[in-house]
Formats: sequence, C-alpha cells, structure tokens
Amino acid sequence: MARLIDAGPGCPTPTPLRGKSAAEARGLTYDDAVKAETDALYPLVADFVTPMEWPAIAPLVAAINKLKRAKNAVILAHNYMTPDIFSLVGDFRGDSLQLAREAAATDADIIVQAGVHFMAETSKILAPDKTVLIPDTRAGCSLAASITGADVRLIKQKFPNYPVVTYVNCTADVKAECHITCTSSNAAQVVEHVAKEWNSDTVILVPDQYLAKNVAAQTGIRILTWPGACEVHEQFSGEDVKQLREAHPGVIVLAHPECPPDVLQEADFAGSTSALSNFVAEKQPNKVVLLTECSMSDNVAAENPAVNFIRPCNLCPHMKRITLENIYDCLVSGKHEVTIPEDVRVRAKATLDAMLALPKMARPLSFKTGQVPLELEMVI
Ligand code: SF4
Repeated sequence: MARLIDAGPGCPTPTPLRGKSAAEARGLTYDDAVKAETDALYPLVADFVTPMEWPAIAPLVAAINKLKRAKNAVILAHNYMTPDIFSLVGDFRGDSLQLAREAAATDADIIVQAGVHFMAETSKILAPDKTVLIPDTRAGCSLAASITGADVRLIKQKFPNYPVVTYVNCTADVKAECHITCTSSNAAQVVEHVAKEWNSDTVILVPDQYLAKNVAAQTGIRILTWPGACEVHEQFSGEDVKQLREAHPGVIVLAHPECPPDVLQEADFAGSTSALSNFVAEKQPNKVVLLTECSMSDNVAAENPAVNFIRPCNLCPHMKRITLENIYDCLVSGKHEVTIPEDVRVRAKATLDAMLALPKMARPLSFKTGQVPLELEMVI
C-alpha cells in the first residue's frame, strides 16, 4: 500500500530538515558571498525549501559547486534524489543507465554518484579510469541485495539452455554472471532479442519478479524469474489505483514496471522513469499521479508547473541516505571510492555492451496497461 496520499504541493518528508549546524559544523556560513552566489538557485526548490531553511542549505550548495570546479568533479543525480540535490548540485540527471552513460562520456576526473551503490558500480564499469565516489556506502537496494553472482551460477547450472537477462538494478557480480543486461526502458526488446538469438521459447529474467511478470505480459515469451522486488514499488497495489481514481476523479495514473502487475492493469500508462517523465512533459495532463518513488514526482513537478500532481509518498530509504552533507564530505575527503575487481568489471561490462549493441530505440518502450496479470515460474 502507498503510505500516504497527499494532494498538496511539495512532498511532506524527503528533503531533510536542517539546523544551521549542518553547514556551520563544516565551517560554512551564509555570508554575503554565498547569498550572491546562490540567490538565483532558490526558485528551483522554492516549493520544497522554505526561506527559513535556505540559509542552512545555501552554504552547502555553494561549497559543493566550488569543490566540483576545483577538483574537476561531476555529480550524477538520479531521478529519486531529493530536489535540493537533483536541482541544485546535480550536473547530470536521469535514470541509472543514462547516468552511467554520462559517466563514460564525461572528461571529469571524479564522479560522485548521487544514487545507490549498484549505480555507482555501473558508472565504474563503464568509466574504469575515473574515480567514482558514493557519499554513503549504506545506500543499497532491496532488489540488488536479493541475488548474488553465486545464485546466478546455480541458475545457469540448472537451466543451461536458457539465456539469463539481468535487470540493471543488480551488483557488478551479478551482471558478470548473466548474458545480457536490460533496463525498464528496453526490457521487452532485450527479452525478445535473446529469445531469438538463443532460439529459445524461454528466457530467465532476474532479479525483479514484477518487472519479469510485466514483461511476460507484453511479449508472450515464457519467462522464469527470481523472487526479488523493489521495496518501494511493491507497496503499490491495484486497489490503491482504484482508491486514487475515486478520490481524484479524472486523474491520469502512471506506473513504473517495478510495480506489481495488478497496478499496471489499472493504470493509464506504464514505463521507465524516463518514459513517465516524457509522458508528463508531452501530454501535460491536468491531474496526474506517478506510482513510483516519491522524489521523482517532486522533480517532474518542478519541470511541469502547469500539471497538478497527486503524490502517494513511498520513499526509498536507500536513496534518502544521500544528502547534501555527505556529498560535501565525500568531495572534501575523497571517501568512499567504489572499486570492482577487474575480471568482474570486464565480464559485467560485456553484459552491458551486449545490451548497448542492440538497435537504439527512438524512445523508451512503454508497457501495455489493462493486461491480466500472469503468474510466472521461479527459478528456485
Ligand atoms: S527505489 Fe527500489 S530499486 Fe530503486 S534503489 Fe530503492 S529499493 Fe532499489
């Protein structure tokens, strides 16, 4: 179940409240120079940060942006970051694969991953010569933690004739053991491709059982999966969608494919974070709800001021470990560097390269809604 239905502007909780001490403890003060440097940034977060809070945040923002210039660093900000990070210090913004591609293309020496650990690993896989830092090593992921490389080796022993696709939300160790990676933007394309390439009527898709069920409903290919789930998206239900429609007549319901299939059955549109964001930008619906992580609605709302957002607030506790404070600290200290054994990195890169070699889609694939949910066989 979604924890809270909030129709008002701004999310009630994701941007942490700060006393002045957070900046002051780091020797940063809100002086005239900081004020002059940051005044123009405040409107970007005015819906989320009160004028009283701004003097506690602005010195951190100014100091982070100065450190980035001094150290030739960039910050990759995932869509689920709070608006202060996303809008004020992020140099590149997007989903995990978009960010990893930026990591590979940038000429910066240091990459700070404002996201979770598997995303920092993906950046390191594609940008091995750069220093990749994660501000808090505890920023994990329930989906990535559900499966190990050893699990995949056992799956391959049990089903040697089926291709194994992994969703990009997994560790480098898991990527290294699979045949190809997919994202929520191209999962159906990847599954159809490997089924043809392997001349197989069956594909194994790990670790997200709900993504697998939603892809199976799109492709008609037999899919075996793994009992992993995103602890944020699995909380939504088809019943939530019905309640939202009753409470907010006319609302357009958009869902991420990590949600259970009964959510997609009831939704108006489903797709990756990029697809959801594009839908809102292009259609400008009068009233919309995004069934995904809470801060995503905040960030999309900031870019679409004419759209009225209804906000069920499910926060990812792992994403919320990243703060302006620990971004500042990691830029100052150089902690915490993400490393991957080279043999693992090379094999993990091969699975990403296999996906990137597929014909580039003009736009992220959307998922058909209204489909009857399928039950899939698990590989364990
Ligand atoms: S939102 Fe879900 S998939 Fe993304 S990091 Fe959090 S737990 Fe993992």
